Formats: sequence, structure tokens, C-alpha cells
Amino acid sequence: MQPTTSNRKSEIENRKSRTRLYDLTLPALQSLLADWGEPAYRVRQLWEWLYVHLAGTFDQMTNLPSSLRERLATETTIDVPQVADTVRSTDGETCKDLLRLVDGETVEAVLMRYERRRTACISTQVGCSIGCAFCATGQMGFRRDLTSGEIVAQVMHFARILQAERDRLTNVVLMGMGEPLLNYDASLAAIRRLIHPQGFNLGQRHITLSTVGIVPGIERLAGETSSHGDGPLQITLAISLHAATDELRDRLVPINQHYRLDALFETCSHYVARTRRRISFEWALIDGVNDTPQQAQALAARLTGLLAHVNVIPLNPTQDYAGQPPSSAGITRFTQELDRHRIPYTLRVRRGVDIQAGCGQLRQRNTA
Ligand code: SAH
Ligand code: SF4
Repeated sequence: MQPTTSNRKSEIENRKSRTRLYDLTLPALQSLLADWGEPAYRVRQLWEWLYVHLAGTFDQMTNLPSSLRERLATETTIDVPQVADTVRSTDGETCKDLLRLVDGETVEAVLMRYERRRTACISTQVGCSIGCAFCATGQMGFRRDLTSGEIVAQVMHFARILQAERDRLTNVVLMGMGEPLLNYDASLAAIRRLIHPQGFNLGQRHITLSTVGIVPGIERLAGETSSHGDGPLQITLAISLHAATDELRDRLVPINQHYRLDALFETCSHYVARTRRRISFEWALIDGVNDTPQQAQALAARLTGLLAHVNVIPLNPTQDYAGQPPSSAGITRFTQELDRHRIPYTLRVRRGVDIQAGCGQLRQRNTA
């Protein structure tokens, strides 16, 4: 029998009202189970089911008594994301999933298999308020923040797929839909959960957070300490720069009108001084717009003396933006200028361009 609309609605309401286990810190899980009168060692067992064994159902948690499993199933949820759409690159190495959240919203998450690395690219918001001209997520506007559990659940989704292949996830990049520093608390809570040594235990250096350049957010991030309280958090910070003059960046990345390049680079220097971590600068090359030798020179001037690296990525064309990727001659012109100024960079191949793996493009296809 087909479920009726009201049945489906009550099922959604029911799922929404349950505690999402991936939203909880270890102390929060401790207090939940303490309230239920469970012995302390159950907390560690459940934590390991969630983050080490990657259980997707309570039935799998065979060392928990069935009464506890039943209560967990009634009052909580593991929040295994539903896959609303999926695309694979022709080489099969990149897979992009559109994941449906409990309220029906969808976000994109991508798994990229490199020779040695297995990288999950995950979202932090549904949509984005910044509105960068070339970005499919920006083109759809802001809908809502994700919770820390919804961010973590995307990672667990791919970790389960790899586990079934006897493989492991090695890297996480917060580079999907949304601006992580405008959903600061949830993004940081998710990172802390992923690096928890008794849980998923991902190395801090294997996590990259990409921001459009929210200056107060970067300042706050510079002040974060690692989980053991021993020095600064060691994640990699990536900044989506795309232009090295205020005049051009104002047009491509509108937040530049609030946080000017001088202020952004002052904050970057402070970030490097405090964390001793190299910053990655993202540069989506757009034909005739930011691929000029003048922009490369302005970029070199900004980066000289800063511990930095540039990721040069040819633009992924999107529905509502007329810009195109540059020709190979354009790419060479730009990178030669960086070479001349001894600016370290990597020219990235457009992974998954054949699967619309640009940020926000799969959702755009599904809502068109
Ligand atoms: N909001 C954050 C993180 C998500 S965007 C940020 O802007 O950094 C992830 C990266 O994809 C950013 O560097 C962004 O500029 C880039 N990007 C977005 N649309 C793109 C496109 N059409 N082609 C190439 N890169 C794109
Ligand atoms: Fe938002 Fe990043 Fe897209 Fe800009 S590039 S609109 S900040 S998601």
C-alpha cells in the first residue's frame, strides 16, 4: 500500500522530533544515557558504533541490550541520509550524491578517489547567502544552516560506502554548498567530532575548511585550540580569493564590499603567525576576467612573504553565469606569471566536470 501524504508527514514530524545522535558531543551523549539510567560504559560502546563501526541501524549494535536498542530507535535517530540523486564521473573515481535531509531540503556531497586519498567534500548550509556570481549554490540563495550532525552525517555516508569496499576515508573538505564560517558553531562542532580520538579519529591536517573570506570568522578560527588543548587547531584553511584587486573582487565575490582585501590579508598574516599553517588560496580562472597577467601580478604582490599556496582551477560553467573557463594559452599565461614571482601553485584538473561536480550544480539540475 502506498503511504498517504498525511502518513508521510507524520513520519517526517516523528523523525524531526527525535534526538539526532550525530548532533551530540560525547558529554551530551553521556548525559542522555545517564538520564536513562544506563551504566557509563554504554556511552563508549554507542560512540564506537556511531564513529568506529559506522553502524547505520540500531540492530547492528549487538553488544547493547535489546531494551536500550529499542529505546534508541524510538527516541533517537542515526540520521542516515537518503540519496535523492547520484552521478558518477565517467572514470568512476568521483561520485556526487544529492542527500535529502529530514525536512526535505537537499545538499550535495562528493566523494573523490585519488591514488592514495579518499576525500569527502561536504556542505555546511542549504544554499548560501553570499551570492558569488559564478557559483551555482550562490545562485540559489540561502535556505538554512545545517546542524553539526547533518554535516557529520555526510562524512559518515561516504565512510560507510568505503567501509563496504574495505577502504577508508582519508580527507574531508568543507567545500560543498554554503559558507562554513557563517555557520561557525555547527561547522566547528562537526570538525571536533570528526577528529575525536575515541571516535572517527580523522587527523586535523586531513581536514580543509574553505571560506569566501569572512574576516571575523577567520580571526575566531585562529584562536581555536586543538582537541587536546595543546596549541592551535591544525586544519587547513582555504580562502576563495578569485581576484586580487578590490575592484574585480567586488564584482565576483560580493562579500568583498564588507571585507576588503587589505583587511582579509591582515587577518591571513595573523592566522599564519598563530597557527604556522600554510593557507590555500582558491582561484577559479575565468576567461578574460581574472586570467590576466595583471591579476597574476596583483596576486603575487599580495602573497609575497605569506606562507601560502594557490589552487588554480579552471571555472566550471554554471547556468546563470556567462563566464567560461580560459583556453590553455590563457592558463599558461597566468601560471607563467606566478612562476616568475615564485608563487607556489597547483593547477587542478576539473575533477568531475562531466558530472556537474561544481558546487551546487546537482541540486540546480534537480530543481530546474
Ligand atoms: N563558501 C565557501 C565554501 C564552498 S564553495 C567558499 O566559497 O570558499 C567551494 C569552492 O568552489 C570555492 O572556492 C568556490 O569559489 C568554488 N566554486 C564555486 N563555483 C565554482 C565554479 N563554477 N567553478 C569553479 N569553482 C567554483
Ligand atoms: Fe557561497 Fe562559496 Fe558559492 Fe560564494 S562560492 S556563493 S561563498 S558557496
